[in-house]
Amino acid sequence: MKISVIGTGRVGATAAFAIMLKGLAHELVLVGRDLNKAEGEARDLQHASAFIRPTKIYAGTMDATKGSDIVVICVGAPWLDTAHRLTMAKDNAAILRDIVPKIARLSPDSILLVVTNPVDVMTHLTLRLSRFSPNKVVGTGTLIDTGRFRSILADAWGINAMDVRAYILGEHGDSQFPAISVASAGGVKFDEHDQLVVSAAAQARVGGYEVFKHKGYTNFAVAIATMLICEAIATDSRAVLPVSTLVDGWHGIRDVCLSLPVVMGKGGIVRTLPIDLDAEEIERLQASAKVLRSVIDDLG
Ligand code: NAD
Repeated sequence: MKISVIGTGRVGATAAFAIMLKGLAHELVLVGRDLNKAEGEARDLQHASAFIRPTKIYAGTMDATKGSDIVVICVGAPWLDTAHRLTMAKDNAAILRDIVPKIARLSPDSILLVVTNPVDVMTHLTLRLSRFSPNKVVGTGTLIDTGRFRSILADAWGINAMDVRAYILGEHGDSQFPAISVASAGGVKFDEHDQLVVSAAAQARVGGYEVFKHKGYTNFAVAIATMLICEAIATDSRAVLPVSTLVDGWHGIRDVCLSLPVVMGKGGIVRTLPIDLDAEEIERLQASAKVLRSVIDDLG
């Protein structure tokens, strides 16, 4: 499996580390605008891989990504302290307009995994620019928020987070929502009036901003989310993951990418599960779609 990571900043380098640590790639390519830094990250990772599994890790220009199975897009214009995820759209869209057609030409059979924010809008743009089929373009979406939600509840309830079967869906951003009507832990359904559940969802929503306030960026949780998606593809695990995918027609939602639970496997998204949301949750999903559609329209 050849995996290329484009953008070797804090997120890209940490995602590459997680992918290496899991032994998912036999070839791992790092591409950065600053080739010197990408070279340093690649060498450091190559040294680390001596303790994990033989992996060919190197830095290069875009040409080095040729024939990749997965291309992880972590590029980004600097995230200013005051910047909201959606206001980053224009700068990052300009970068994607430059690189995505090249990536698609060099690796026409690859799966494109978008991390760049605002991730739902960038996933949609990547889909359009690459002209790939929708099952081959995926964004990390609310997988990271779902992890935050599960970890807060698992902590409070004293159970393993893996046994909290709950999803945050919609936008990776302010309009996201917890799908409480279908959530359970150890077979016990969630109570929508449980203040802990309500507060955990609110904390998950602002979790990224909170980390950002403390350290100026986020990297570990998103790197693991990225690795999990790569793992599901590399091992054809058919894991059910809430990730950003094209929604076109479901509940009247037209042509936006947002997070729903999908089955992830060798070819990318195997299928999107028709999750049985209640009426209020469907409205919140539609509201997320509206927010995202307006940003997509603004980008032109
Ligand atoms: P960063 O500034 O540390 O790194 C961005 C990197 O992209 C830089 O190294 C820069 O040189 C590189 N880059 C820019 N244009 C490029 C190009 N044309 N070709 C190759 N490389 C290019 O930022 P970061 O903290 O690593 O964040 C990267 C992106 O990930 C941002 O958009 C950020 O908002 C996003 N992010 C997403 C999530 C998520 O949950 N989806 C979480 C955290 C961060």
